[in-house]
Amino acid sequence: KVRVRFAPSPTGPLHLGGVRTALYDYLFAKNQGGEFVLRIEDTDTARYVEGAEDYIEEALEWCGIIPDESPKKGGKYAPYRQSERRDIYDRYTEQILKTDYAYIAFDTPEELDAIRSEFEAKGEVFSYDNRTRNRLRNSLALSEEEVQKLLDEKTPYVVRFKMPIDRTLNLEDIIRGNSSVNTNTLDDKVLVKNDGMPTYHFANIIDDHEMEISHVIRGEEWLPSLGLHTLLYEAMGWEAPQFAHLSLILKPDVSTLINKDNIDSITKSFTDEFVMKNSQFSFDESAELIKSFFTEVKSPRFKSMLGENDKDNTLTASVKQFLKKGLSGKLSKRDGDKFGFPVFPLDFKDSATGAASKGYRENGYLPEAFINMVALLGWSPADDKEVLSLDEMSKEFDLNKVHKAGARFSKEKSEWFNHQYLQLKSDEEILSILKNSDLNLNVEDEKLLKIINLMKERATFPKDIYENGKFFFEAPVSYDEKASKKAWNEETSFILGELADGLGTAEFISENLKQVVHDFAENKGLGMGKVMMPLRLALVGELKGPDVPDIMELIGKEETISRIINAIN
Ligand code: GLU
Repeated sequence: KVRVRFAPSPTGPLHLGGVRTALYDYLFAKNQGGEFVLRIEDTDTARYVEGAEDYIEEALEWCGIIPDESPKKGGKYAPYRQSERRDIYDRYTEQILKTDYAYIAFDTPEELDAIRSEFEAKGEVFSYDNRTRNRLRNSLALSEEEVQKLLDEKTPYVVRFKMPIDRTLNLEDIIRGNSSVNTNTLDDKVLVKNDGMPTYHFANIIDDHEMEISHVIRGEEWLPSLGLHTLLYEAMGWEAPQFAHLSLILKPDVSTLINKDNIDSITKSFTDEFVMKNSQFSFDESAELIKSFFTEVKSPRFKSMLGENDKDNTLTASVKQFLKKGLSGKLSKRDGDKFGFPVFPLDFKDSATGAASKGYRENGYLPEAFINMVALLGWSPADDKEVLSLDEMSKEFDLNKVHKAGARFSKEKSEWFNHQYLQLKSDEEILSILKNSDLNLNVEDEKLLKIINLMKERATFPKDIYENGKFFFEAPVSYDEKASKKAWNEETSFILGELADGLGTAEFISENLKQVVHDFAENKGLGMGKVMMPLRLALVGELKGPDVPDIMELIGKEETISRIINAIN
């Protein structure tokens, strides 16, 4: 039976990478006719963030990734919160201590710090492992009597894994294939902390075993733990699940992101961070260099414009290095703020620090579009089809087709998906989205529906329909300068004046209005454009929007004539 779990730690809001892991867990489980479990791994009380668990559940729900078993829903293997499973862990702590795979250690944090410094002084790195464990205060190094004495005195201790010496482990991964690791490169990890709580490693394998998990699908950052986990299963005498480690989600390509509207804010955010780390340089000079990079981002090379001020090139070199690092590698939480896109599914406010993160939901993304975009970060369906529902994805999902290489996030692509899904919505559905948003719409539904119908094909987000269609609600207060130059000449006022006269008796139905304007232009011996363009400018204020007769019908006769008169006076 296929059983898959998503096991987040409630240490903050779920980010894009977490959503993708949950989604692949879900898709794989559904594809195999199996079950999808949500387990909250909250044994690390120091990193616990209030509200994070609720956030994770709400986010998954918004995405439509609904667990079969979870802390809220319960299930056969409850409880699903690790902090409530202490008695189970206690039992297994006792069990592993009876084997040759674990021992207890009394070293205090101060003692460990001291030995760490000792190593550093010699230019070495300390590691608690088979070379050092005999010199430390643990049950392998001390006599039985000494250990008993310490226990009787209630000396705090931790339980450590006793890493076997010089064994080559074969590691299997569905996505990455086989690899191997020698145990001499691994250390004796703490399994149980001195408060009796297990660490991630121990609790994780106990729960995966207890909950009969068949496949562990998780982020690549856990790959280095696979050796330890494999040995923990061996130590407990349990069969290990199959593993699949997902590659990283990479930062977007800046050349697709920079434009003249955002270059200053992106420059500023990079400069803020740069001077924070390199306080010897001035903000203005750094900003100048950083901006010169972003200006030429399609074929990057630095303009050395600082001349005298950066003679020895130290600023330029530091900026280069900083940008190189800042623009490659793993997509980070802060990238969202810098580049202007959300990296979290929902808005999040950390109750302890007050830090706020922006969410896809609140930024106008449709959940279907969001998960479709996320699913394709690292997986492509057989026929390279791009727009797929959750159901279609789960029918097609195949772990063997998940990419080994990192997947580059693209803001453009996420907007593209949203646009696609918006087109699939009915006008009524979009109406209800707009009415539930914080836009202040005081228009009758009937009119709004018509506007939606005319505007949606140009919209990425529902709110675009309103924002790009402001002219439906109010007359232009000014006319775009460039457009005026193009559309208007000395005769235009006269021509539009005559047209306005003719419109007084016209029936205001788009089809008819098209004919009226057409006949008018023909009678005057003018091209259609000569009339349509200035007419559009008069009604919209710019040369944008849907067909002019459609606009005229919607705003009505009185408003059309009044806008023309305003424009010609
Ligand atoms: N609690 C771990 C995390 O937060 C789970 C890792 C795993 O899936 O094994 O990512």
